[in-house]
Amino acid sequence: MAPGSTPAPARVRGDGAALLQSVAARLPDLRLLTDAVDRESYRRDETAYLSTGLPLAVALPDTTEQVAELVRLCAQFGVPVVPRGAGSGLSGGAAGIEGALTIAFTRMNRVLEIDRENLVVVTQPGVVNADLKKAVAAEGLFYAPDPASYETCTIGGNLGTNAGGLCCVKYGVTRDAVLGLEVVMADGTVLRLGGRNVKDVAGYGLIPLIVGSQGTLALVTEATLRLRVAPPPRATLLAFFASLDAAGDAVAGIIRAGIVPVTLELMDRTTIRAVDDVHRLGLDRDAAAMLLVESDLPGAAAQAEVDAAEAACGDAGAGLLVRARDATEAEWLREGRRLAYRALEAQGVARMEDVGVPRSLVPELLRAIEGIAARHQITVGTFGHAGDGNLHPTFILGRDEPEDAAAARLHAARAELFEAALRLGGTVTGEHGIGVVRRDWLVRQRGEPAVEAMRAIKRALDPQGILNPGRVLAEA
Ligand SMILES: Cc1cc2nc3c(=O)[nH]c(=O)nc-3n(C[C@H](O)[C@H](O)[C@H](O)COP(=O)(O)OP(=O)(O)OC[C@H]3O[C@@H](n4cnc5c(N)ncnc54)[C@H](O)[C@@H]3O)c2cc1C
Repeated sequence: MAPGSTPAPARVRGDGAALLQSVAARLPDLRLLTDAVDRESYRRDETAYLSTGLPLAVALPDTTEQVAELVRLCAQFGVPVVPRGAGSGLSGGAAGIEGALTIAFTRMNRVLEIDRENLVVVTQPGVVNADLKKAVAAEGLFYAPDPASYETCTIGGNLGTNAGGLCCVKYGVTRDAVLGLEVVMADGTVLRLGGRNVKDVAGYGLIPLIVGSQGTLALVTEATLRLRVAPPPRATLLAFFASLDAAGDAVAGIIRAGIVPVTLELMDRTTIRAVDDVHRLGLDRDAAAMLLVESDLPGAAAQAEVDAAEAACGDAGAGLLVRARDATEAEWLREGRRLAYRALEAQGVARMEDVGVPRSLVPELLRAIEGIAARHQITVGTFGHAGDGNLHPTFILGRDEPEDAAAARLHAARAELFEAALRLGGTVTGEHGIGVVRRDWLVRQRGEPAVEAMRAIKRALDPQGILNPGRVLAEA
């Protein structure tokens, strides 16, 4: 393997031709893409420098029954399955496997029921996160998990990765919002797990196991998700700092003070400038870092919470402190943060990483990232969910740099980043998942006995190894 390259994609041993014949015979109404040009667009997800494979075909089912039949046939012919939502993932989880069947859930995109009495929504997996939010907002309700990619990513992908987002610091990640799932197992069996009960401890927790398993244990065909009554409009504060250290100290100070803002996001200078170049928000381009702090408490409590956050930022040495004048201005600022990655992409080939540390150690993590950027002479824009201790150092490589050389440089810098996160008691992925690109680090982080327990679960639920093989766990 060339230095810095991602692991070679898994190769398939099943009978693809026989599978396609059977699919055509058994599921005549299924939309199935077999044209090479169509299949090509399902080769990658959003991960830069990823080795990928061309799917044998792409199925776009409309019903759970079609998904179950597809998986049954794949099991019969030994052809692996790659579940896919919008393909916005950043770990290679939905990328194509040469000769495998990709099942893309984009046509299963209906919100099935909004149950106000129980504050739940029942949804198909292909619904885009923002569309689900919009549908429940029309009823005065709120679905909390909000990845920055929320306008493109799907609920199925969010369940696959256990996605986080900007307001997880207060409301938790996707897994915290799941009450029930309908899933298709590796032999095509359909299971209904959980439901609308807020409390339910009957048997082993299969839902938390499947959420975040990146399609390696089951395919999600329906989800019952927890809602809240829509909170009031937010009060929004921007705090600018002359050093990354000071911004990190402010994050630690806010957590220490017991303040629980709905958003506590950080952007470093490289990111501030990239965002300002594209969106002209009038940010302080000379600041080393910026925090976006928001409160969604009712009435005067919101201003009081932002006052307390402002005091913590002041104590840490914040320079400029700015409050959004109204909801529109607040939305621009939030949108600027959400579009940070796209803004950095304007500067070169961007590879977003996803490390996390205990929240009090954000300053140390920021220092480590600065050191890595300097030692490797590589541009890094760091932003992310500072309130969760989860940062996205994004490496920017030259578009003209030969791919092998860029990948090797990236590999060396990433290795130091992961070492730093683990040294601080952190994680190599806070929300994007192990996928293919962090697989080597799973054993380092969890240890061989824990990974062996994961392999045992995989063998028990998917003995043929047909569900998204080589993702999360290396193939045996
Ligand atoms: C600009 C940008 C910003 C982002 N911001 C965030 C962020 O703030 N927080 C965050 O967590 N992530 C973020 N991401 C990463 C990505 O958007 C999330 O991982 C998202 O959850 C992926 O959803 P998707 O529909 O694109 O899924 P895909 O990329 O298609 O799939 C993701 C994983 O889920 C599996 N999967 C998909 N559908 C199913 C299903 N029905 N059943 C079982 N498994 C399934 C796939 O096999 C794959 O392993 C960001 C990405 C980008 C490009």
